[in-house]
Amino acid sequence: MRAAGLSVALFASLVRHRAHHGVARRVAQRARREGGGGGIRCATTGENVAAASTSATASSSSSSSPPPPLRTYYADWAEVILPDNHRFPMEKYKATRLLLEADASLAGKLELLPSPALDLADVLAVHESGYVDRVLRCELTEKETRAIGFPMHPSSVTRSLASTGGTVAATRDVLAPNTAHRCAAQIAGGTHHAFADAGEGFCVFNDIAVAATMALREYDHLLSARSKTPILIVDLDVHQGNGTAKIFEDDPRVVTFSAHGEKNYPWKTKMRSTHDVELPDDASDDQCVKVFEEWIPFLFETYDPQLVFFQAGVDALRDDAFGRLGMSREGLLRRNHLVYDACLRRGKARGGGEEKRTGERSAHVPLVVTMGGGYSRPPDASVRAHADVFRSAAYRYAVGAVR
Ligand SMILES: [Zn+2]
Repeated sequence: MRAAGLSVALFASLVRHRAHHGVARRVAQRARREGGGGGIRCATTGENVAAASTSATASSSSSSSPPPPLRTYYADWAEVILPDNHRFPMEKYKATRLLLEADASLAGKLELLPSPALDLADVLAVHESGYVDRVLRCELTEKETRAIGFPMHPSSVTRSLASTGGTVAATRDVLAPNTAHRCAAQIAGGTHHAFADAGEGFCVFNDIAVAATMALREYDHLLSARSKTPILIVDLDVHQGNGTAKIFEDDPRVVTFSAHGEKNYPWKTKMRSTHDVELPDDASDDQCVKVFEEWIPFLFETYDPQLVFFQAGVDALRDDAFGRLGMSREGLLRRNHLVYDACLRRGKARGGGEEKRTGERSAHVPLVVTMGGGYSRPPDASVRAHADVFRSAAYRYAVGAVR
C-alpha cells in the first residue's frame, strides 16, 4: 500500500490553516452588499431564506430538544495555487464561507468546521491505486493534467483530500447511531467528473462516490436492510455527473440521477446515470423546476432511499459562464427546497408507522449537501447562489417538519 503510506506523510506535512485570502474576502463583501444578506423569498415555501427567520425556530417541530445547527465543512483552508488568469474561480469557496460566517441570522443554525483529513483507504475503495499514487506524488501525465484542468501541486493534493474528507465526515455525521444531524453539508465537493482511474473537469477525486462507498461498507445494516436501492444521488449541477454514473453503473444499491444541460460539457465522456434528464439551452426557472417537481418525488417513491447526496451546483444560473441555462437565484432556491423537503417529508410520512415501532431512525432521510459548480464572472452571483444552498438548508433544517 505504497500510496497510503505516502499520503499520510504528505497530508500531515501539508495540513495547515491559512490566513484569509484577500480576493475571497473582497468577493464576499461585494456579494453581501449586492444581496447576500437580505430579501430573497423562496417561491415554493414563501420562506425568507436570506434574512433572519425567527419564524423558523418559533414553528419548530415538536421534538423536545432543538435541532443542532447545520454542520457545514469547508476545505478552503487548504489553499490551491493556480496560474494567473486561470478560468477556475477558486476564490468562490472562501468567499461563500465568509458570506455565511458574516450572516448573523445563521447564529445557532449553521456551524462551520474545517474539513478533516480522511482515511486513504476510503479513497482507494473507489479510485484505482495507480491513479491515486500519481495524484499524491504530483506525477500525473500531461494528458491527465489537461483533463483535470489545473496542475497538481502539493497544495492541490491537500485540497482534493480535504474536499473528499469533508463529504465523508458529513456522511458519518448523518448516519452515526443516535445522531441528531439530519443533514450535513460541505462548502466544497460535488466533484462528479472524477472517474475511478482518472480526473476530469476540475475534479480529482469523486467525493460523493467515496462517501457513498464508505456508507455502504460501514452503515449497510442501516441502509440495505430497509431498501434494495438505499443511496440516491441527486445531481442538479448543469453538467452531467459522468464520473459518478460510471463508478456506480453496475451497483444497484446506488441510484444516480443527473439533470443537466443537453448541450453542456462533458461532450465526449457522457455516461449513463440510472436516470438522465437533459435540459434545453436557456431553460427557465419554471421549465427546470417543473422537471425537478416531477422527478424528485418519483425518485423517492420508486427507490425509497435511506441516504441522499445532493450535488447542488449553481451553474444553471443565467449569469454562469459555462452553464447555458437560464435559472435565477430564486429558481435555484425553489430547486433546493424541493430536495430538502423531499428528505423531510419522506421521513415524516414514514415516521408515523414503522419508524415509531422500531425506534431505529428518526423521521427523515439523511441528507449530505455538496457544493458543485458555479462559474459566473465575476464570481459574486455564483457565491450568492452557493451561499443560498447552505443558508436555506440551515433554515429548513432548523424548522424540521414540512408544513
Ligand atoms: Zn457544473
